[in-house]
Amino acid sequence: MTKRVTNFSPGPAVLPEPVLAAARRDLLALPGVGSSVLEISHRSPAFKEILDAAEAGLRKLLDIPRNYRVLFLQGGSRLQFSMVPMNLLRGSGRSADYVLTGAWGNKAIVEARREGDVRVAWDAKETNYDRLPEPGDLDLDADAAYCHFTSNETIEGVQFPTEPEVGNVPLACDASSDFLSRPLPIGRYGLLYACAQKNAGPAGVTVVILREDLLQRGAETLPGMLNYRNHDEHHSLYNTPPTFAIYMLRLIVDWLTNDIGGLEAMAAQNRRKAQMLYEVIDRSDGFYRGHARTDCRSLMNVTFRLPSDEIQATFIAGAAERDLHSLKGHRSVGGIRASIYNAMPVAGVEQLRNFMTGFHKKNI
Ligand SMILES: *Cc1c(COP(=O)(O)O)cnc(C)c1O
Repeated sequence: MTKRVTNFSPGPAVLPEPVLAAARRDLLALPGVGSSVLEISHRSPAFKEILDAAEAGLRKLLDIPRNYRVLFLQGGSRLQFSMVPMNLLRGSGRSADYVLTGAWGNKAIVEARREGDVRVAWDAKETNYDRLPEPGDLDLDADAAYCHFTSNETIEGVQFPTEPEVGNVPLACDASSDFLSRPLPIGRYGLLYACAQKNAGPAGVTVVILREDLLQRGAETLPGMLNYRNHDEHHSLYNTPPTFAIYMLRLIVDWLTNDIGGLEAMAAQNRRKAQMLYEVIDRSDGFYRGHARTDCRSLMNVTFRLPSDEIQATFIAGAAERDLHSLKGHRSVGGIRASIYNAMPVAGVEQLRNFMTGFHKKNI
């Protein structure tokens, strides 16, 4: 077998090895079915069981209240940038508030503006998205259709430790890159969405969790595929869903539940992994410079710079020689980004930490 490298890709990202092993074991024939999950009808009892288990597992892991629906959709989080305002803003006679803490929030607002009036409740552009709003900074409209924020800005590496306070306005969240990395008080949200390929599975499926009263807002004139109500009424089988991606998501949910021991345990491991890298950054006398302010650093995407572009290129090449892959930062921010999602083992972070420490010594 080809050896596996330590993969710091921002997404699609590393998956847990036991999950990949289970998928490989059952790829030719699912036990009791005799066909691959890739080959069976989405309306077959075998797939129905997978879909139901994925939803039930998510409900248990996240302790999702009964008055919330779980949908498995396609089109990635970027389609949600449109579906959220199409369903919740269009025709509402109100505007929507957007809290901008990075590149993804900015992309979300571009799509929302096509659908209706949008207000910027806060924007960290001036400081190149290195921080979060302080309590009281948000310019909120108490009558907004919803208030949207990005729990973890994947590119800048800025993460909300808890939800922003928005009063009675439904909170809408792009949780793409920290979904399932920690427990969430779902009851505080109106709607939350996450593409799977960062933390919850392969590309192809996007999870939407929404409070059931919000289903009524979608206009009849919306295209069927873009109306949450249709997907809900058909239990995510309105059209052929991404069956393999849902199967993988179910395996991930089982792994989180049984192997990891739940989201508290996962969160503790994620805190530990991130701390290992931030410690090296903080103790490097400015050789490594973190992008995010220390009080809003992401536990998922660790972003930092080195003293020059040249040293940075040497760093990336040296890391690759040690099988530490995909560390180059996003082109809009530059620098280094180590994505250390749930499936990144502690041992992988240890390898990177040791490399960073050694590289600093050699380049003093
Ligand atoms: C990756 C990502 C997206 C885009 O997801 P797609 O599935 O490619 O549409 C949106 N928001 C955040 C926070 C992301 O990390």
